Amino acid sequence: MPARREEVENAMEEDIHFKFLTNPKRFIGNEKNWVTGMECLEMELGEPDASDRRRPIVKPGTEFVMDVDEVVVALGTTPNPLIAATTPELETTKYGTVVANVDTGRTVKDRVWAGGDVITGSDTVISAMGAGKRAAADIDAYLKTR
Ligand SMILES: Cc1cc2nc3c(=O)[nH]c(=O)nc-3n(C[C@H](O)[C@H](O)[C@H](O)COP(=O)(O)OP(=O)(O)OC[C@H]3O[C@@H](n4cnc5c(N)ncnc54)[C@H](O)[C@@H]3O)c2cc1C
Repeated sequence: MPARREEVENAMEEDIHFKFLTNPKRFIGNEKNWVTGMECLEMELGEPDASDRRRPIVKPGTEFVMDVDEVVVALGTTPNPLIAATTPELETTKYGTVVANVDTGRTVKDRVWAGGDVITGSDTVISAMGAGKRAAADIDAYLKTR
């Protein structure tokens, strides 16, 4: 569980239930495309790899379905791929981040600014806030010329 001790404690206080060594396999939906279940697999720890980490491996035949009515997928930190798909006028990198001027946040699309993780990849709150301030200043300057 790659998290700080206090993050784990806080999650427990919020009544989060952990299911260790369990891996989601697929989501199950109804005829209206609402999610109704999540099929999971049990895992077990294999032999230590080169980094000495015991990687989880699937326990065959252990599939089970968990009833769910909402799923928040919180794996990885890549940008939402919708942006590149719905707005092809924006230039994006092979990592899915949006290309923007780091000093102003201007993208190649007229009147669109971007900042934060979507241009830098995973970073920090303070860096995203700085990008927001720089973009706000540039938007202000842009509007004053209109
Ligand atoms: C587990 C974890 C722990 C972290 N801990 C720290 C920490 O301790 N300190 C720290 O400084 N940083 C931490 N970070 C990093 C920090 O959270 C990010 O750098 C910061 O949130 C980036 O801000 P942002 O505004 O660029 O993006 P986000 O905070 O990701 O905001 C983007 C927003 O856009 C929304 N969005 C996405 N797609 C669309 C769409 N198509 N239409 C409309 N809205 C959309 C999203 O729902 C989201 O609300 C952590 C990150 C993670 C994942």
